[in-house]
Amino acid sequence: MDNFVKVTLNSGREGSLLRRHPWIFSGAVKSVEGNPVDGQTVEVFTSDRKWLARGSYSSKSQIRVRILSFKLDEHVDQDLIKNRIAQAIALRKDIADLAGTNAYRLVFAESDGLPGVIVDRYDDFLVCQFSSAGAEYWRDEIVRQLQAQWPCSGIFERSDSDSRQKEGYPDRVTVLSGSAPPPLISIKEGAFSFLVDVYKGHKTGFYLDQRHNRALLMKYAENKDVLNAFSYTGGFGIAACLGKSSHVVNVDTSQDSLDLAMQNFRLNGAGMDNIEFIGEDVFNLLRTYRDSRRQFDLIILDPPKFVAAASQLAGGTRGYKDINLLAFKLLRPGGILVTFSCSGYVKPDLFQKIVADAATDAGREACVLEYLSQGPDHPVALNFPEGFYLKGMVCRVN
Ligand code: SAH
Repeated sequence: MDNFVKVTLNSGREGSLLRRHPWIFSGAVKSVEGNPVDGQTVEVFTSDRKWLARGSYSSKSQIRVRILSFKLDEHVDQDLIKNRIAQAIALRKDIADLAGTNAYRLVFAESDGLPGVIVDRYDDFLVCQFSSAGAEYWRDEIVRQLQAQWPCSGIFERSDSDSRQKEGYPDRVTVLSGSAPPPLISIKEGAFSFLVDVYKGHKTGFYLDQRHNRALLMKYAENKDVLNAFSYTGGFGIAACLGKSSHVVNVDTSQDSLDLAMQNFRLNGAGMDNIEFIGEDVFNLLRTYRDSRRQFDLIILDPPKFVAAASQLAGGTRGYKDINLLAFKLLRPGGILVTFSCSGYVKPDLFQKIVADAATDAGREACVLEYLSQGPDHPVALNFPEGFYLKGMVCRVN
């Protein structure tokens, strides 16, 4: 076999692979025979020479190999890429929830058998993010397969994620095929319309993972005085508004996001008299509201990822506790807190504990009405629990 590279694991380190977990950390690797370039396919063996899997090699990441196949007769080639993309597309076609929208995640990395590859659909454009050595190695083939299997106006690349930097790759933002997306793409999401900036927006432009939570929020909003904290481009605020809220305060530190939020409210036909846009730090604003005794009926907390590494767990936990504690203080009796954490390191049990401690310290009694997660276009492969990152709770205070 050409370029055969053999990675042998340390004794006793094969357990996670036998359970089909797709990551091999550098500490589990005993030896590498051959000189793989980054992204090249390597064959993985146990310390007593049994074949385990094959995957993409990375010399820079702590995740030394990301597995692409656990089947001895399945080669990592154009056909594998073709099949993985076809499977990902077929899965989305089967999700009833997506019938009313033209924006969703088409390929979700490890969960779709393509580690480090994200592809999001925004109307007639695809936006890709390649953030691992293997993703980078197979990039041209992935684009070719998307062109063949998902004809559209254009395919755009937004490879500027933090995880990409950990792999040692520079940012790349470019048109991959077809025409360049317009400055703002208009998408439809059930009852809502949103303008998405795929050039400068967060992630690939929009928080597609919150789709069904935005729809759910509408049900809680009627006649409510709402605080939409960490509003980004308005998502939850617009859902509240279309759910007949009486007043919505949107707060975000990014003025660009608030400007686009304003456009999005107008696009959805919102009367702007009872909508506020405040460019401020949520931590500060919550304290200001506490001191001035401003109260709300419904508060949404959807902060950015506070914990991006295990070393940030303590600080991030304090951050979550702080905002949740303040939010509990601001709720009127019977009020609702919709609170999220998108940090994969904060597991559901821990998140509930943080929110429970926050309620106790705020002197409030509360119960969870609903547990929320990412939408089904962000599936979680059963052998890859890391794919489950977005947790939310709808809490009601007495
Ligand atoms: N709820 C949004 C997504 C929120 S993303 C949606 O569904 O679309 C997190 C947002 O928090 C970003 O827009 C970021 O600009 C903002 N942000 C980050 N730190 C902040 C802070 N300390 N105060 C206010 N906004 C902050």
